[in-house]
Amino acid sequence: MAFEYAPAPESRSVVDIRASYGLFIGGEFVDGSGGRIKTVNPATEEVLAEVAEAGSDDVDRAVAAARTAFDQVWGPMPGRERAKYLYRIARIVQERARELAVLETIDNGKPIRESRDVDVPLVAAHFFYYAGWADKLRYAGFGERPLGVAAQVIPWNFPLLMLAWKIAPALACGNTVVLKPAETTPLTALAFAEICQQAELPPGVVNIVTGAGETGRLLVEHPAVDKVAFTGSTEVGKQIARSVAGSRKRVTLELGGKAANIVFDDAPIDQAVEGIVNGIFFNQGHVCCAGSRLLVQESIAGDLLDALKRRMALLRVGDPLDKNTDVGAINSAVQLERIRRLSEIGDAEGAERWTAPCELPDRGFWFAPTVFTGVSQAHRIAREEIFGPVLSVLTFRTPAEAVEKANNTPYGLSAGIWSEKGSRILAVADKLRAGVVWANTFNKFDPASPFGGYKESGYGREGGRHGLEAYLDR
Ligand code: NAP
Ligand code: MG
Repeated sequence: MAFEYAPAPESRSVVDIRASYGLFIGGEFVDGSGGRIKTVNPATEEVLAEVAEAGSDDVDRAVAAARTAFDQVWGPMPGRERAKYLYRIARIVQERARELAVLETIDNGKPIRESRDVDVPLVAAHFFYYAGWADKLRYAGFGERPLGVAAQVIPWNFPLLMLAWKIAPALACGNTVVLKPAETTPLTALAFAEICQQAELPPGVVNIVTGAGETGRLLVEHPAVDKVAFTGSTEVGKQIARSVAGSRKRVTLELGGKAANIVFDDAPIDQAVEGIVNGIFFNQGHVCCAGSRLLVQESIAGDLLDALKRRMALLRVGDPLDKNTDVGAINSAVQLERIRRLSEIGDAEGAERWTAPCELPDRGFWFAPTVFTGVSQAHRIAREEIFGPVLSVLTFRTPAEAVEKANNTPYGLSAGIWSEKGSRILAVADKLRAGVVWANTFNKFDPASPFGGYKESGYGREGGRHGLEAYLDR
């Protein structure tokens, strides 16, 4: 059953992308000393802009600018004054919300519905939330002394939101930052640099160095940074943990995940199906806490899977700027290849693949929403993070088996539970080794609520009062 609908594309004319960008150091855009990299729109493969690839000299300059700003301006500034800048940033994000949403969507590939209704509002909410803490740090219980200069490296899946998660608490606590966005999604970070100028944030408090992995490495290994905050893959997180070991740097790592979404036989099926869809197809499954392992109670597995497939067949995959689109483009050719490769491994392991019937655009990077059934615990598709719109389905008989399977993973970032029984939800949640457990919902975020992992999902918490701890020296 397909619904006819008229395309409703958001206008691109609200964004003004420059052909070429420098680095944002000491409050202004400056030329980098290294090469240039191109960022593309993954839905069309169109080159959007060229950005600088920061080299060692550039990273030195950015860290020095952050140090000067920390020593002379931001560190000594009273919290109530810092708060005013954070509030101002939050309000400018709201004022420029439409532009930021369009920019995020064309650089990243995510549907405008998500960038407009989820990413950008949460970015503003994060700055508002931490602005409120800036003059109340003494009540948070982690001291009031900032650490100094924070080196922050973020991935491409929620470019502006991850920036907000990093920058807002750091600034509220009185630190200055040098942030490196991901190579494929630098544009909203550069727009944020303009917002810092617009907010008249003192020069050097926020510095943005674009580049690829090597720039990130130079930044986190820089001897003059006091704090490293990294969100990205477990593999790179481990390298970073090794490289800062023995230094005086404080580190927080937000890494990968392989969340279980557990559906009990008493769950409201239609609601659970919406939650499963949101859990794995939100942001094309490029979500560290995605519900990528569906654990369904055996007695309802058949009915649930039928309902899920019917729902998946209605997902609209395509132009991310179209307000009707549910699932956008895969962020890069490299990521598309990873998703394809792991899915082929799923086929080879004997799992059964079902793909939503949808037409994919000719140009750009696309992967249709996919479900694997007949998956066993030992399968690589059940163990490794696919980071794409691919769901693995396993079954269980008892709550104890559900808990055992949910925890049988090297990761521990998030989980979902679907049941009518509050007592069952609490009992199961208590036994799950996951930083966040959602009950009868999934992928809900709020700046007041801490987020972070166990095991190979990393350490440290972002968001909430707990998120201040990473940026204060007791
Ligand atoms: P990634 O390869 O680890 O990249 C993350 C960031 O680190 C990028 O800016 C990357 O630069 C940079 N980088 C690469 N090598 C580096 C090195 N040796 N030293 C310092 N920085 C380096 O991760 P990804 O594949 O882009 O992102 C997806 C991963 O992020 C997934 O595993 C996902 O689960 C995780 N994630 C976790 C959370 C969380 O909160 N736990 C949230 C979102 C995503 P380039 O991109 O320019 O190469
Ligand atoms: Mg891009």
